[in-house]
Amino acid sequence: METKENDKMEKIISLCKRRGFVFQGSEIYGGLAGTWDYGPYGEILKWNIKDLWLKRFVRDREDMYQVDAAILMNQKVWQATGHVSGFSDPLVECEKCKKRFRADTLIDAKKCPSCGGKIGAEKQFNMLFKTNIGAVEDENSISYLRPETAQGMFVNYKNIIDTFHPKLPFGLAQIGKAFRNEIAPRDFLFRAREFEQMEIEYLIKPPKDDEWKPVFESLKEEMINFSKDIGLDEKHIHPIEVAEADRAFYSQRTIDVEFDFPFGQKELYGLAYRTDYDLKRHSESSGVALEYLDEETKEKFIPHCIEPSFGLDRAVLAVLSDAYTEDEMNGEKRVYLKFSPNVAPVKVAVFPLLKNKPDLVRKAREVYAMLKKEFGNVEFDDNGNIGKRYRRQDEIGTPFCVTIDFETIEKDGAVTVRDRDTGKQERVEIAKLEEFVKGKFK
Ligand code: ATP
Repeated sequence: METKENDKMEKIISLCKRRGFVFQGSEIYGGLAGTWDYGPYGEILKWNIKDLWLKRFVRDREDMYQVDAAILMNQKVWQATGHVSGFSDPLVECEKCKKRFRADTLIDAKKCPSCGGKIGAEKQFNMLFKTNIGAVEDENSISYLRPETAQGMFVNYKNIIDTFHPKLPFGLAQIGKAFRNEIAPRDFLFRAREFEQMEIEYLIKPPKDDEWKPVFESLKEEMINFSKDIGLDEKHIHPIEVAEADRAFYSQRTIDVEFDFPFGQKELYGLAYRTDYDLKRHSESSGVALEYLDEETKEKFIPHCIEPSFGLDRAVLAVLSDAYTEDEMNGEKRVYLKFSPNVAPVKVAVFPLLKNKPDLVRKAREVYAMLKKEFGNVEFDDNGNIGKRYRRQDEIGTPFCVTIDFETIEKDGAVTVRDRDTGKQERVEIAKLEEFVKGKFK
């Protein structure tokens, strides 16, 4: 069945709330714009995505060092990077209703999209969240909630060199919260004021000519592979070359990996060759030498950096958007999330056919315990009729439902496994169930 794209976001947001994936931040107090709270299913979905990212970019490799730096950093970090002076978006205000907009999002730069009033002059609005550390509020106690995780890695580069003595090329990796005081948070998880990033600073020897290109290409490929790991449709992913005029001045090449969100094709991740800009700036600003000593050649230099940067919440939204499906099954309209088993918050659900038959419930509990030990996120459900239980599991994207019925006990020791996408049911022996389910997970 066709879903109009503009309805689709509303439907996803409503499903997320109804089924405990994502709630509005501070909801009982009327919310807080640009913040979202993950409920139990959303949290597992997010962790599954983080886990696949860690697997591909850290655990399966030998050249990655994962860190978890503090969110609050010395203000000098953000002075050095230029965030204090220049991390801003163009802001305009309606002279009549006083509403504020990001200037580059207005269709008519002179007219307020809300009341039709006159739009005032453009100002630069700094997106850093400022705070003060300790009891004294003065210039020296200023700190900022980090607007990106990247700098937490650059400032730990020396610690990693001194403690692990890695050979180039190697990467620093980090997953963590970032904060931006966005002028207009919108499109659900896409543009929030508090969000999570997964970033890598991949360090290479200062390249001769095009030596950096193969590394850049292989990271780009891994970004696409990761998108497939989390179940995104490759057709919806578009690596876009960013033109020189639109790149940060220090970037020699940038690719925005865009995705077909329900509200249009927009940036999901980014990949940038940042040269030696960040480490050089931190070295100049802190007065600490951030050079790398090549033990073989005895050369000293500041490494160059290629940065794959992922927005975790945007990845969650992309996964939800590709998974959201409406169809008809047995003459009934149904909504389901076609998650890849890799990311599905519940891997398998186990049901006794009837709630009031102790033998069935006992056997179902046994099967549940066995699967839970293997797959972790397994649910037991004996509420209402089977059809209702299937519908609930379909809506949260559970790939398989296992039902224990009278035949299981009286005849064949087998259970019914029902496939979420096709509704097809097959009998599987309990002894082979674990292998059967495992075989369906990539
Ligand atoms: P945009 O142009 O959409 O504002 P950006 O180019 O400023 O994004 P980066 O600074 O490159 O974004 O941040 C890296 C990643 O962090 C982005 O690719 C995106 O996935 C994520 N991200 C950035 N801003 C937000 C936000 N406000 N809410 C959620 N995720 C974000």
